[in-house]
Amino acid sequence: MKIFRKVKDLQTCLEQEREAGRHIGFAPTMGALHDGHLELIRMAKRDETFTVASIFVNPTQFNDPKDLEKYPRMPEKDAELLLSVHCDALFMPTVDEVYPPGKDLTLHLDFGALATVMEGEFRPGHFQGMATVVNRLLDIVKPDKLYMGQKDYQQLCIVRNMIGQLQLPVELVMCPTVREADGLAMSSRNLRLTPDMRAAAPIIYASLQALKTEFKKEPAAVVIQKATDRIAGAGLRPEYVEVVNGITLQSVQNWHDAELIVACVAAFAGEIRLIDNLVVKGHA
Ligand code: AMP
Repeated sequence: MKIFRKVKDLQTCLEQEREAGRHIGFAPTMGALHDGHLELIRMAKRDETFTVASIFVNPTQFNDPKDLEKYPRMPEKDAELLLSVHCDALFMPTVDEVYPPGKDLTLHLDFGALATVMEGEFRPGHFQGMATVVNRLLDIVKPDKLYMGQKDYQQLCIVRNMIGQLQLPVELVMCPTVREADGLAMSSRNLRLTPDMRAAAPIIYASLQALKTEFKKEPAAVVIQKATDRIAGAGLRPEYVEVVNGITLQSVQNWHDAELIVACVAAFAGEIRLIDNLVVKGHA
């Protein structure tokens, strides 16, 4: 696996791969890698792409400076994990390499109601920062396929919208959420959970599964309240539980309101904010 820190060096390598007729697959990450991230790489390899992973803790998408500061960083271990799944290239740029000083690369796109609900409501500026960095990384890597996780469902919808608005020549591939044996969605943030909170956190997925069953018979308001109570009952602090149209991300009231329906949760386990979601109707 080749490791690059400079845009130019990565681009020279990718140019050669393209000339050799290879397609480029790309999985952007913020590091502290786990099996969910590695699954993106496995998918890209199965698609026979020259697979590039990036590790960049993007300062512009953190609205809480403490969260940015405490974000786990372990580049050597990450590189070993990527090597173990035969990733072809790792891009680990500095902040100045991604955002050259003096150049304003902020992306000003209007994502409409997609970006004002759920994460958009509770993490102001997050999606503008996220879209800016994904757009910048796509501009650097110019992949044929972009691999992203269903775990961050709203992020995926916004990236899909961005690709559409900018008419970028890239295919977005969604990777199903990879979970721990007890159902907890894998996340770099899980490393920061106290033992008590780690033991309580699987209630998020358990509540989503119960909601999926209940929603066939009961209205959204009722199943949302039940899930909220379950999560709070286990000692977590739910920030939101939403049942939304999987395309528009707007709330639905009943099972028949949309073909694709997704339940989404954000909850604090101690001071760690966790998110998860589950398709409750249709196929994402
Ligand atoms: P992050 O490092 O958290 O920015 O995530 C990088 C990519 O990995 C994003 O596309 C995430 O959606 C994806 N990802 C994170 N956790 C998981 C998971 N448990 N299962 C599948 N994909 C994931």
